[in-house]
Amino acid sequence: MGFAMYDVIVVGARCAGAPAAMLLARAGYRVLLLEKARFPRDTLSSHYIHQPGVALLDRWGLLDALRATDVQPIDRVVYHVGDVRLQGCSLPVDGHRTAYAPRRFVLDPILADGAVAAGVELRQGCQVTSLLFENDRVTGVAYRTAEGHEHVERARLVVGADGMRSLVARLVEARTLVEDPPLTCTYYSYWDGLPADFELYDRPGRWVGVIPTNDKRTLVMAYFPQAEFDSVRRDAQSAFTENVRSTAPELYERMAAAHQAERLYGTGEQLNFLRQAAGPGWALVGDAAHHKDSIAARGIMDAFLQAQLLVDRIGDTLGDRERLDAALRRYARDLDLRFMDFYRSTLTVAELRVPEARLALFRAIAGDQELTDRYFATLSGAIGVDEFYNAELFEKVAQAG
Ligand SMILES: Cc1cc2nc3c(=O)[nH]c(=O)nc-3n(C[C@H](O)[C@H](O)[C@H](O)COP(=O)(O)OP(=O)(O)OC[C@H]3O[C@@H](n4cnc5c(N)ncnc54)[C@H](O)[C@@H]3O)c2cc1C
Repeated sequence: MGFAMYDVIVVGARCAGAPAAMLLARAGYRVLLLEKARFPRDTLSSHYIHQPGVALLDRWGLLDALRATDVQPIDRVVYHVGDVRLQGCSLPVDGHRTAYAPRRFVLDPILADGAVAAGVELRQGCQVTSLLFENDRVTGVAYRTAEGHEHVERARLVVGADGMRSLVARLVEARTLVEDPPLTCTYYSYWDGLPADFELYDRPGRWVGVIPTNDKRTLVMAYFPQAEFDSVRRDAQSAFTENVRSTAPELYERMAAAHQAERLYGTGEQLNFLRQAAGPGWALVGDAAHHKDSIAARGIMDAFLQAQLLVDRIGDTLGDRERLDAALRRYARDLDLRFMDFYRSTLTVAELRVPEARLALFRAIAGDQELTDRYFATLSGAIGVDEFYNAELFEKVAQAG
């Protein structure tokens, strides 16, 4: 049997990996965090962190560092759909009602610094290339440095936080538990001189999101059906402009007076799946475990929640294989239970349909601030979908109809 140098090796140091490593180190474990990039480094993502994610940042002691940047506080959501305009804000989580949308080259280094401050050994520019196994148990990793040197490290547990194309998931042959075809594709860029709330514009086949971020910049993001990806990507800038013009004419006019500060970024890789999230000596967190369409802006928060869930389940079990394996099984089961509803509701939004029944619901709640805020709270995850769609609500919709 190999000698375990580390308690845990975490592969990937962004929204899932850095918090998981930090929390494990705070629990007293010896943790190595391997990241193939060098920070600060941007990544393809927009930035909205819903209230449960903000609450976790505060609980972890990292929110002050985020607030110390020039990230803009977001206290209001404005949602335009059909003839309805809903304006409000999610209910608070642990007292946090303000959301933030930091650029990833701002957020990810704060998370990685948090891990290092907790005692994690972070090695950047290190790409994991294979896993070590003893029988069917993962016991370590092999990795290559940017200079081309090969190294091997051993641990009791290897955590794959290496994104939706996870090498760790592939090497352990993690089963795909649920998979749905991609529904959307998206393009986005940043504007100077475009003051905005968190704004959403929804019409059949189109969706536009607006998010204030760092550097006084505002992100504008346009979604199209996946079936249109080939035609959209041929001239993405024109398709983007036309989407905004036809979906959000008032925003389009405001953008005419502003300045596009960066090129357009985009992707059609809006994969939807849940994977088996743990096995002997390994676990997956973040996009590696569970990926869904970005339209609901939940991936960052969900990565935080999964990191916390994994470390809560592991507790003090790392020294005992049987207890550890039982804890990992509980983590995998709880992850399915906890994220399946939101996975399904994200797919409903990503279908880019506006059924009449949904419009009727929005019309019924539009004049009611409490209900509007509760609706936004279902989008943020502050309350469960079941807590919103109750008999009282259906009665109100029936009366309004
Ligand atoms: C267009 C778009 C918009 C989005 N908008 C939002 C939003 O507004 N809000 C939100 O919450 N979420 C959003 N998301 C989702 C969010 O970006 C992801 O869910 C989140 O980044 C997941 O974090 P992660 O740490 O699991 O994975 P990643 O961010 O993918 O990080 C994985 C890390 O692992 C490293 N890595 C990979 N392989 C190896 C290896 N072999 N060795 C070492 N390191 C490795 C990578 O370099 C990377 O740094 C969006 C996504 C997209 C694509």
